[in-house]
Amino acid sequence: MADRDNLPVVVIGLGRFGSSMALELTRLGTEVLAIDHRPKVVQSLAGEITQIVAADATDLQALHQLGVPDFQRAVVAIGSDIEASILTTSLLVEVGIEDIWAKAISRQHGRILERIGATHVVLPEHDMGERVAHLVSGRMLDYVQIDPDFVLIKTHPPRELVGVPLGEAKLRRKYGVTIVCVKSKDEDYTYATPDTVLQYGDIILVVGPTAKVERFTTL
Ligand code: ADP
Repeated sequence: MADRDNLPVVVIGLGRFGSSMALELTRLGTEVLAIDHRPKVVQSLAGEITQIVAADATDLQALHQLGVPDFQRAVVAIGSDIEASILTTSLLVEVGIEDIWAKAISRQHGRILERIGATHVVLPEHDMGERVAHLVSGRMLDYVQIDPDFVLIKTHPPRELVGVPLGEAKLRRKYGVTIVCVKSKDEDYTYATPDTVLQYGDIILVVGPTAKVERFTTL
């Protein structure tokens, strides 16, 4: 039996999101059973995923025939057909799959999926839209939400931190954020220490509560 971190996964719905996920899981060495009701989609991915079949995931009998109840982990990557997404998720709950990741296309859709028993709900378009807004605003080079109110960002150091050892900048006390890593031009990332002195053009990774990190980037 696979270890808890590399359990086989059933991925249902092979649109852009589901197919990328199934291919990446395969690349990571995870055993995947991929299901989509469109034979053309299945044909185009055949050979690239461990096991791939054409079936309607809203059909309980089909799920049993494919051995879906034996899986502990599943992804429902059906988005635009909300009825199929909800029905499939509820069938996975009914057959006893413990860990169900479901994609939602709106907050309301996400709330319904959570209520019927999805253990993790992801809103890829919504989350990516938020993330890109931070990049488009020009203050951050990357933005990763770790928790609803906690982020990790990649940015350049604000002017007032350049040339000062981080230990003297009292970042945590003054701004409530922490610089964890620093990268100077043509060098690798290194962990920031109290002796680190930042230069213009360095790249820093900053973590902290969202509002505080956002304020930090306006310094
Ligand atoms: P994306 O935006 O990621 O491309 P879509 O919602 O457009 O997502 O695609 C979802 C995929 O799920 C499609 O390939 C579609 O054929 C598949 N799908 C939809 N309903 C079912 C179903 N009942 N059973 C299996 N696959 C389904």
